Amino acid sequence: MDGYEFSFKKVRPPEEGERITVKDGKLLVPDNPIVAFIEGDGIGPEIMASARKVMDKAVEAAYKGKRRIVWWELYAGEKAMKIYGELLPQDTLEGIKYTLVAIKGPLTTPVGTGYRSLNVAIRKALELYANIRPTYYFGQPAPHKYAEHDNFIIFRENTEDLYAGIEWPAGSEEARKIREFLKKEFGIELREDAGIGIKPISRFGTQRLMRKALQWAIKFNRKVVTIMHKGNIMKYTEGAFREWAYEVAVNEFRDYIVTEDELYSKYGGKMPEGKILVNDRIADNMLQQIITRPWDYDIIVAPNVNGDYISDEANALVGGIGMAAGMNAGDYMAVAEPVHGTAPKYAGKDLANPTAEILSGALLLDYIGWSEAAQLIRNAVHEAIKRNKVTQDLARHMEGVKPLKTSEYTEELLKIIEELAG
Ligand code: NAP
Repeated sequence: MDGYEFSFKKVRPPEEGERITVKDGKLLVPDNPIVAFIEGDGIGPEIMASARKVMDKAVEAAYKGKRRIVWWELYAGEKAMKIYGELLPQDTLEGIKYTLVAIKGPLTTPVGTGYRSLNVAIRKALELYANIRPTYYFGQPAPHKYAEHDNFIIFRENTEDLYAGIEWPAGSEEARKIREFLKKEFGIELREDAGIGIKPISRFGTQRLMRKALQWAIKFNRKVVTIMHKGNIMKYTEGAFREWAYEVAVNEFRDYIVTEDELYSKYGGKMPEGKILVNDRIADNMLQQIITRPWDYDIIVAPNVNGDYISDEANALVGGIGMAAGMNAGDYMAVAEPVHGTAPKYAGKDLANPTAEILSGALLLDYIGWSEAAQLIRNAVHEAIKRNKVTQDLARHMEGVKPLKTSEYTEELLKIIEELAG
C-alpha cells in the first residue's frame, strides 16, 4: 500500500502505536502495533472484551511488558448502523487495510438488506482468500475416541467453487439461456426444471492458498500437508486443484517437501528428517480418515465446499462450536474471527463461551509472529479445562462441574496466564 492515501470519515487511527507494514514480502511488526477490532453483534461485545483482556495479558506476560497491542475499534453490524447508518462502512474496510490485522466478533446476518452475509462481504472486499481453521483438543468433553490426536489446521479456499454464488433458479430466464447454450454448443441436455450453479476453480486461486498453507507449515513446523479433493469425479475443477497444489509444492518449496510418491520411490517409506510430507486424499476418504486415523493428518488444504464440510467435522470431533477458532487471510491482511455466530439467546447474559474468540486472537498473534503469547493463551485454556474452570456449554457435559460466567472464566484465564508465565 505504498503511497496510498488513507482517508477516514468517522474514525481516526490511535495516535500511540505504530502500523504493521509489509517489507520484502514480509510483515514488519513493531512492538506496539495498532490492531483493529470489531465487537460484533449478540454475544460479540462480551466475548471480544474477554479476548482482548486475555490477549493483552498474554502479550504482557510473554514479553515482560516490552510489547503491547494498541487497539483501534472499527464498526460493523448493528453498532455501525447506529453510527454510520450502514452495516459495513467504508471506514471499516479502510481501517483494516491500514492495520493489516484485525479481530472481529460474530455479526448478525442481515435479512433483506442486500448483503448475503456481512462476513462474506468483508472477506470479499479485502480479498481474504484463505480461511484458516485450527482444531484444538484441550481435554474438553469431546465425542471423538481419538480426540487427543485431533490437531489439524484446515486451509479452506474462500473465494471460488460453488460458493462463488454463480447460480440461477430453476425456471429462470438465465437458466433457460444457459440450458440452450449448452445444448447448442455442446449437445448437453439438462432438465427444464434444473437449477444451475457454476463451480469455478482456478490455478491462481488454488496456488495462492497452497502457498499460504506451505508457508504456515514451514513457519510452525507442521509435518504433513494434505490436499483434499474430489478429483476422481470433478476432474477439471477438483482434479486440477490437486494438480495445481502439487505444482506449487514441487516448484516453489522443493527443498522443504517430499511428496507421497517420492516417499516410497526415493526414501523407502521413511520420511527424511525435517521435511514436510505433501500428499492428497479424495474428499470422502479424507472425511473418514480424520476420524479413523487422525494422527496421520496435520494441515489439510481444500477447495471451498470440501473445506466447509471438513472444518465443521473437525471441530465437532473435539466438542464443537464454543471452542472453534478461525482466521481469514489474504496475501498480508488477516481478520481473526470465531466460527460461531452471535448466539442471540446468550447475548448480554455473561454466559457465552469466549474461548473461540480468544483462540482466534491467539491465531492472530501467531500470524504476526508473537507465538510465545499465542502459546501461552492455548496453554492457559488447556489448564483451565484441566481445573474444570469452564463456561456452561462445556460444564453441562462434565459431571459435577459448576459453570463459570464469561467474566469469571476470563478472570480465571488471566490468573492462569500469570501463573504459567511465572
Ligand atoms: P450461533 O450463533 O453459532 O449459535 C448456535 C448455538 O451454538 C447457540 O444457541 C449455542 O448453543 C451455541 N453457541 C454458539 N456460540 C457459542 C458460544 N460462544 N458460547 C456458547 N454457546 C455457543 O448460530 P445461529 O444461531 O445459527 O446464528 C445466529 C446469528 O449469527 C445469525 O444471524 C447468523 O447468520 C450469524 N452467524 C454469524 C457468523 C459470523 O459472524 N462469522 C457465523 C455464523 C452465524 P446452545 O443453544 O446449545 O447452547
